[in-house]
Amino acid sequence: MLYFNQMAGFGELKFLCDEQLGKLARWMRILGLDVYFKNKFPDDELIEFAKKQSRIVLTRDHNLIEKLFHAQIPYILIEENYPADQLRFVVERFKEQIKIRVFSRCVDCNVLLEEIAKEKVRGLVPPFVFQTQNHFRRCPSCGKIFWSATHKKQVDIQLRDVLGELYDQLREDVWETTQIQEK
Ligand SMILES: [Zn+2]
Repeated sequence: MLYFNQMAGFGELKFLCDEQLGKLARWMRILGLDVYFKNKFPDDELIEFAKKQSRIVLTRDHNLIEKLFHAQIPYILIEENYPADQLRFVVERFKEQIKIRVFSRCVDCNVLLEEIAKEKVRGLVPPFVFQTQNHFRRCPSCGKIFWSATHKKQVDIQLRDVLGELYDQLREDVWETTQIQEK
């Protein structure tokens, strides 16, 4: 059973994965989705947090679902066992409301990456990467630098494998369309 409270009013959807869904949370962030995740999140705190931030809770925990229902927090029960299946289920469920922007968000911090001019990453990335890449992004929280390279291509292949044509339907390539002013 799914329960939603005025889903259409949420704008950009925000999610919260329970502590059994860490891998799913990471994959959702790779897609660019806003997903809060924390280990050892007591139910009452999780509910309070989800309510305050208008987050949709993704969970495998039937006890938690009962509490979410009473607290009128929107939730999705994840019954699939494997992260790839869980991801496909979530994307299928929310396909009308989400866009896939691969590597637009830090997978560790869940904050949006900022574009950074190539000149500013000199010395911060391996020389080969600096020589061969032109587009870079940085996490404003942890400072990690991302670039579009082999890693993204592998992720593209994996995601197409998992999501099939949904991937092509929902995908917006933030890397190829990005224009960075370089000095
Ligand atoms: Zn980060």
